Amino acid sequence: MEPFPADAENQNYVTVHALSAGFLDWPDQYFVQPCLEGARTKAPSLAFLIQHHSPKTGRPTRIVFDLGIRKNIDTYPEVLKTHIVNHLSVITEPDVSDSLRLGDLSPEDIGFVVLSHVHWDHVGTPSDFGMSRFVVGNGSLGLLAEAGNPPLAGSTSLFEADLLPPERTTELPGVDEEAQGSSGGGGGTWQKFGPLRNVIDIFSDGSVYLVNSPGHLDGHLNLLVRLGPGKFLYLAGDACHDRRILRKELGIATWKNLHGEVCCIHSDKEATEKTIDLIVGLEKMDGVEVVLAHDVEWLNREGNKKRFWPGKM
Ligand SMILES: [Zn+2]
Repeated sequence: MEPFPADAENQNYVTVHALSAGFLDWPDQYFVQPCLEGARTKAPSLAFLIQHHSPKTGRPTRIVFDLGIRKNIDTYPEVLKTHIVNHLSVITEPDVSDSLRLGDLSPEDIGFVVLSHVHWDHVGTPSDFGMSRFVVGNGSLGLLAEAGNPPLAGSTSLFEADLLPPERTTELPGVDEEAQGSSGGGGGTWQKFGPLRNVIDIFSDGSVYLVNSPGHLDGHLNLLVRLGPGKFLYLAGDACHDRRILRKELGIATWKNLHGEVCCIHSDKEATEKTIDLIVGLEKMDGVEVVLAHDVEWLNREGNKKRFWPGKM
């Protein structure tokens, strides 16, 4: 796989801190196959704090990537709440705001909230972040706008129309597949970066990249950051829910709903499989660590509990 470009002279780096944002206990049959009847996984919903310092002024900009599970599930739309109560058991505390306070930060300190995608277990409580700008991938606002229409493939596509404040929300432009490798093509801000076809260099200093990560849901984003010389962290969101899929031990589950339609937790299974192949390649590269949003194996790996805020990755 093509390597990432080397660090620049005077390369700027960021610090990243895991944030506990709830747990959910899900039936494996909707995620992996083959699987045993009745098997369940208790998975974390992880969020991340990214701290960037301007090399000129030293001023910090803080980003939170994903807001996890909502603390008060009563405020999800009724149909979604019913789905959660019927199919899952969730732990909603601490949420992202609580987790930030563990290190003397509060939602007011967060400049930007980037949502990997708009599924309910990633959107948390946006109203807690009354000062922040929200950033979502292309197509996310369309999904929110369609909320209330009958979901296509069951309850994974239940959304809230008024989730995000329009005046403080930015939806990224779509990628131009024809203009691969050109930074200015089609007026877009997407560019190629090493093995990644479409990234946006947020601070224009090579420290934090938004990564177009197609397949799971329209607008699905990953984040790539530089932690130190030759050291990258790749936050993979819901591109994959279970490391056994990354290791090719299990496949992605599909099932039939009551109408006989084939359903999958990913809106485009084929595109997701390509994205997963890419992530498997990234993880094999020297100096690249990959963490999934629901990465129970990562959470249980020795030493990783110390990497939660106020600790660091
Ligand atoms: Zn999802």
